[in-house]
Amino acid sequence: MIVNNSLDEIKKRDNALSIIRNMVENKGRSSLFDLTGLSGGFIASPSELSLLETYVGPAIFEDALQEVGIEHMGGQKVIPLNRTSSGILATILTLVNKNSNVVHYLAELPAHPSIPRSCKLVGANYSETDNFNEFSIPENTSLVVITGSTMDHKVIDENEFRKVIEMAHERNIPVMVDDASGARLRTVIFNQPRACDLGADIAITSTDKLMPGPRGGLMAGREDLIDEIKVKVNQFGLEAQPPAVLAMVNGIKNFNEDNLINSFEHKEQLFELLNKNFNNFQKTPTGVMISPNDLAKEINVEHNLSDNDLAFVFSFILLRDCGIITIPPVSMPGASATIRFDLSTSDAFRLDLNDLNKKIESSFKKLLGVVSNEDECREIVFNF
Ligand SMILES: *Cc1c(COP(=O)(O)O)cnc(C)c1O
Repeated sequence: MIVNNSLDEIKKRDNALSIIRNMVENKGRSSLFDLTGLSGGFIASPSELSLLETYVGPAIFEDALQEVGIEHMGGQKVIPLNRTSSGILATILTLVNKNSNVVHYLAELPAHPSIPRSCKLVGANYSETDNFNEFSIPENTSLVVITGSTMDHKVIDENEFRKVIEMAHERNIPVMVDDASGARLRTVIFNQPRACDLGADIAITSTDKLMPGPRGGLMAGREDLIDEIKVKVNQFGLEAQPPAVLAMVNGIKNFNEDNLINSFEHKEQLFELLNKNFNNFQKTPTGVMISPNDLAKEINVEHNLSDNDLAFVFSFILLRDCGIITIPPVSMPGASATIRFDLSTSDAFRLDLNDLNKKIESSFKKLLGVVSNEDECREIVFNF
C-alpha cells in the first residue's frame, strides 16, 4: 500500500502542489488543465478589493451575499463558511446531541467524511444508506441528512428527496442537505428545485464546485436555525473571511448555467473516444470518471497495489506528464480517489477532446509500465 492514512494523503497533496508550482513557474499556467470541476476563482474589482478591511469588508459583502446567496440557494437567510465541511460541522455541533441518532440518505455511498467525523466528535450514532427501501428514522434521531449530489456526482432522485424530508418532518426532525455540488448539478442539469424549496431546513453548498467562486461553503435555510448555527460558526472560527465572501458574491453572480449544459454534451464525445480503449469509464453529469475499482479492472499486469493506490499513481502521471489536474492528487484526506474529468470549467474549453483522449491513453500506458514496481509508484506519488 502506498497511501495508507491521512498523513500520507497530506504528503501526496504537498507533492502534487509542488508539481503544479513547478509547472506554473517553468511552463506557465496555460500548461495546466484543471479538470477537477473545483477550479475556484477570485473575481474582484480593484474598488472592491480596497474595501477588504476586517470590519468594512463584512459590512459590505455579507450584506450583498444575503441577496445573491438566497437567490442561488433559496431559504430565509445565508451564512458564508470557510468550507462546506465547516458548515456540516457547525450544524452537527448545534443540532445533534450525544447518543442521539443521525441518519443519512444518499444516492450512492460513501458520504463526505466530514459528516461521520462530525457525528463522532459529538458522540452521536451515525448511519448512512444508499438503499431507499432500507432507509428509516429511528427513535431519538436529532438530524436527518440528505446528500444532493455525491462526491462522484451521483444525483439523488427527486421523489426520494421529497420522501425523506417528509418522513423527517412528520416527526419534527430537521433536515440538513449536503448540496456541495448538487446546488448546481441538481438544479441545472436535472431541473430539480433548490434544496430549501424542497423543504430542507439547512442546505450547504461549496462555492468552488461547478462555479467560479473561492473554496468555501454557503449555508442557507431557516432563519431560526441559521441564527443558532451562526453562534457555533463564530465561536469556532468556521466563518468565511471577507476576501472569500467578496469572491463568493462575484462567483455566484458569474455562475453560468450554459457551461454546465455544454459540458453535458461534450462528455458524450469524450466517452465514445475513451470507449475505444477502455471498458470501465463512466459518464458523470458533466464529464467522465473512472473509480479505483473500475481502474483496477482495466489493468492486466501483475501488481500489489490497492485500487486507491492505482488511482493515485494514474492521476499523478496525468498531472506530471500532461498537466491534467484531477482531484486525487490534490484532495484533502478522506476524499474519493475516483478520477473525474470535468468538462464544465474554463480549462476544459481549451482542450481538444481528441487530445485529451490521447493524454489519458498515453498516461494509462505509463501506468501499466510502472504498476509492478511499487518503489517507482511511491516515488511518483510522494517524490521520495
Ligand atoms: C466537496 C464536498 C464536500 C466538502 O466540501 P469542502 O468545501 O471541501 O469542505 C462535502 N460534501 C460533498 C458531497 C462534496 O462533494
